[in-house]
Amino acid sequence: SSSPPVSLGFSQSGETEEVQEEVVLKPFPASLSISPALLENLVYDALVWSSLNGLVVGDKSVKRSGTSPGVGMVHAPFALLPMPIQEGFWKQACELAPIFNELVDRVSLDGKFLQDSLSRTKKVDAFTSRLLDIHSKMLEINKKEVIRLGLHRSDYMLDAETALLYQIELNTISSSFAGLGCLVSNLHRHLLNQHGKDLGLNPKRVPGNTAVRQFAEALAKAWNEFDNKRAVVMFVVQPEERNMYDQHWLSFLLKEIHGVNTIRKTLAEIAGEGQLLLDGSLAIGGQIVAVVYFRAGYSPNDYPSESEWNARLMMERSTAIKCPSISYHLVGTKKIQQELAKPLVLERFLEDEDAAKLRKCFAGLWSLDDSEVVKTAIERPELFVLKPQREGGGNNIYGDDVKEMLLKLQNEKSQEQAAYILMQRIFPTASLSYLVREGICHQNNAISELGIYGAYLRNNDKVIMNDHCGYLMRTKDSSSNEGGVATGFAVLDSVYLT
Ligand code: ADP
Ligand code: MG
Ligand code: MG
Repeated sequence: SSSPPVSLGFSQSGETEEVQEEVVLKPFPASLSISPALLENLVYDALVWSSLNGLVVGDKSVKRSGTSPGVGMVHAPFALLPMPIQEGFWKQACELAPIFNELVDRVSLDGKFLQDSLSRTKKVDAFTSRLLDIHSKMLEINKKEVIRLGLHRSDYMLDAETALLYQIELNTISSSFAGLGCLVSNLHRHLLNQHGKDLGLNPKRVPGNTAVRQFAEALAKAWNEFDNKRAVVMFVVQPEERNMYDQHWLSFLLKEIHGVNTIRKTLAEIAGEGQLLLDGSLAIGGQIVAVVYFRAGYSPNDYPSESEWNARLMMERSTAIKCPSISYHLVGTKKIQQELAKPLVLERFLEDEDAAKLRKCFAGLWSLDDSEVVKTAIERPELFVLKPQREGGGNNIYGDDVKEMLLKLQNEKSQEQAAYILMQRIFPTASLSYLVREGICHQNNAISELGIYGAYLRNNDKVIMNDHCGYLMRTKDSSSNEGGVATGFAVLDSVYLT
């Protein structure tokens, strides 16, 4: 892009720092033998670097840390060293991003497919039902989203037994950690520049991470398509957000590089201050909103009363560009993921060649109507994950709880089953890792989940942007079922290409 350089030191430059001396590239040691002295140095350097460069989150022990920036900050949890991954898998995941972007867009235009696929879920899941109501209303008034913006993150795990890369899920709303994820890549390069020789690791094998820059660019380009120089980008946020710095990196770059102003509002504030003008534009306290960027609204907790739902509906009805629109949001549900995995469904939306590429990374996905699979899952629950229609981590069911829940649902003979999907459980290879939380380094047997960001911007027939945009590695104790950094299971990590 033609963006002018910004003076951010090396924190978000996305560029390689100079390697002082060429280091001999050894394959990533299966068990790095790091001396206690070197380990202590690495941890110390990493903690200093994080503090100086904004790799931080709100500290939960400080009361105002979720509402007031600059108060109660602690380094984000991170892995001390990048996670090795074969370059081939990395490239495969990157190549899939534009295809998933296109898929989301095409599925979003098929309102009937979304409504039909989710019709039974709607009966038993109040949250999904509310989202579908908004979607129905937009279909009724024949609302067309001419400018469409998607900021997605597709997450993968590498299955040890089959050596195949499997998609865990595709996030179409509030895909987080573009900001902090880039910083972790820079942190790892910094540490390998300093200590790579002793470790036998080459900093150049940590790929540059452009996620936050490209997300900012996509938001800026959407703003530009809206074509009102005085309009703003509105971040819809939770009233308390300890991951605010990840979001602030994005709004900071929007301003710094693109000159676009951001406002931050909660759904409750939007309900109170927002209005639809006669021409359909969305105004908040007199300011026109060009782009609504959701970092809240994906969870039932975000809608404690009717006014939050009213705010969501008002935004959807407006001419503002929604990231995501209600349709894009619904495409990202677990139920739709499972429907798309059925035979010949992908092929309705994509050319065969692209459909085949995506299908290769689909794990087993089933609805609970499949009595054969349910039977198997009751016998071997450890091979499955049971998922409700929720986002943000901490909602899935594993192990013996899968069996218990499936039996319960069977006995009740209720429609409740439609609230869940079953997924094949993926088992990545565990490796010894150093996870740093609150200044303390823990040595763990750990597994990783690779997220690839994707940005899609379209105005009518013109695709303005359709790219893969950097990455996020998350690493967690191999004994933990769930992932999620915000939920405290995982730490932020980056990639070491082997
Ligand atoms: P959410 O939208 O809440 O993030 P996910 O589907 O990503 O839901 O599941 C949350 C976490 O559970 C993932 O980050 C991953 O660690 C774990 N997980 C989900 N699906 C699987 C699976 N099929 N196999 C193994 N682990 C899984
Ligand atoms: Mg998710
Ligand atoms: Mg997830």
